[in-house]
Amino acid sequence: MSDLESFREQTRAWLEENCPQSMRWAPRKRGNPALADDLVWGGKKQTYPNADAKVWLERMAAKGWTAPTWPREYGGGGLDKAQAKILSQEMSAVRAKPPLIGFGLTMIGPLLVANGSEEQKLRFLPEICRGEIRWCQGYSEPGSGSDLASLQTRAVVDGDDYVLNGQKVWTSYADQSDWMFCLIRTDPDVPKHQGITFILLDMQSPGVSVQAIKLISGASPFCETFLDDVRVPRDQVVGAVNDGWTMAKALLGHERTMISDAFSESSERNQLVELARTYIGEDGDGKISDQVVRDKIAQLTMNKVCFDLTVGRTKEAAKIGQQPGPESSIFKYYATELNKDRHSMMVSVLGPQALGWEGEGFEQDELDVTRSWLRSRGNSIEGGTSEVQLNIIAKRVLGLPE
Ligand SMILES: Cc1cc2nc3c(=O)[nH]c(=O)nc-3n(C[C@H](O)[C@H](O)[C@H](O)COP(=O)(O)OP(=O)(O)OC[C@H]3O[C@@H](n4cnc5c(N)ncnc54)[C@H](O)[C@@H]3O)c2cc1C
Repeated sequence: MSDLESFREQTRAWLEENCPQSMRWAPRKRGNPALADDLVWGGKKQTYPNADAKVWLERMAAKGWTAPTWPREYGGGGLDKAQAKILSQEMSAVRAKPPLIGFGLTMIGPLLVANGSEEQKLRFLPEICRGEIRWCQGYSEPGSGSDLASLQTRAVVDGDDYVLNGQKVWTSYADQSDWMFCLIRTDPDVPKHQGITFILLDMQSPGVSVQAIKLISGASPFCETFLDDVRVPRDQVVGAVNDGWTMAKALLGHERTMISDAFSESSERNQLVELARTYIGEDGDGKISDQVVRDKIAQLTMNKVCFDLTVGRTKEAAKIGQQPGPESSIFKYYATELNKDRHSMMVSVLGPQALGWEGEGFEQDELDVTRSWLRSRGNSIEGGTSEVQLNIIAKRVLGLPE
């Protein structure tokens, strides 16, 4: 038996024994981890959806499998790409939920692995792997979204610290987070991309205040984050001072990969078909009875299969440790647009049953479809809008003129 085969056998046996039943997706519902509300984001304010969730996280973290490919000395599993793929396949086979999700594992962690100082790696990465700290992203400002480099939040040096003043907006889960990674202007007298620094900020620091932005749904995933004379030690800069734009782009590469990865769940493909069978019906041959619906689903399914294959091929071809570049915009753009189309189709298939928000007359599954559809609209805005991705693809991937 090869090393990889024996790794697969051991992994399968370990998962079978250690993944609690309640931490496995129900047969029909394998949620989108980015949207599911019963998953563990970690951090000091974490309340676990059930006791098994904590056990599952502790067991996986002890093996380093919350961050399978990170080096062992930083709390990761030290797996190579082939082993990590096997772990992921075996987790899918038992329908295991991810033990831990969040921006620590998918965004700031990978950035620190590649660009953090040794002290920063040793300080933050093990805590991220164990789910002990939760992170939010302080990029956008009231006047700076797509034109992110125009940001105005300032830092001035005072002894060993920076003193920060300004405001961030749309900071997802700032009220739940222990730390924020943020972009701050450290030199206002140079071209805008050159005077920005990437800084790690403890949300407990005096002068940080957070206000939730209430959405029409009643939920408040977004916050405004105000920074008033917040002192941050200068060793919490990642990368070089005034070179934050390089870090910002690298992090956005991870963010865009994370967003597109969230939609390459092949099992999600079947949800639309199942909904169509239930709500539209089947003909005598077991086919979805409406031909137009059938055609549209077939087209969406083909697009999804092609997308998954392209993502898979690109990942295979990527060298180990390679950081995502501007081509991550292609995947981010296509995955989120396709996901919106798929959700629109699900809503169409449900017909009037997609009109519910809460209350009687609607099954929970139906309400979930409607809410997921609405949430899918945000996927092509967060991490840079689709228009911005198209600009990046044109300029940085295709090399088209300005
Ligand atoms: C679900 C969600 C979560 C988010 N979480 C966070 C977070 O945690 N942290 C954070 O910092 N931010 C977060 N954001 C904010 C997000 O990054 C911004 O909304 C996004 O970058 C767009 O900026 P904006 O909203 O200011 O829109 P604008 O930049 O004002 O854009 C408005 C419209 O103009 C278009 N447009 C702008 N410039 C161009 C151009 N050059 N070419 C063509 N079209 C253009 C845009 O595509 C868009 O349609 C989140 C947003 C969403 C929806």
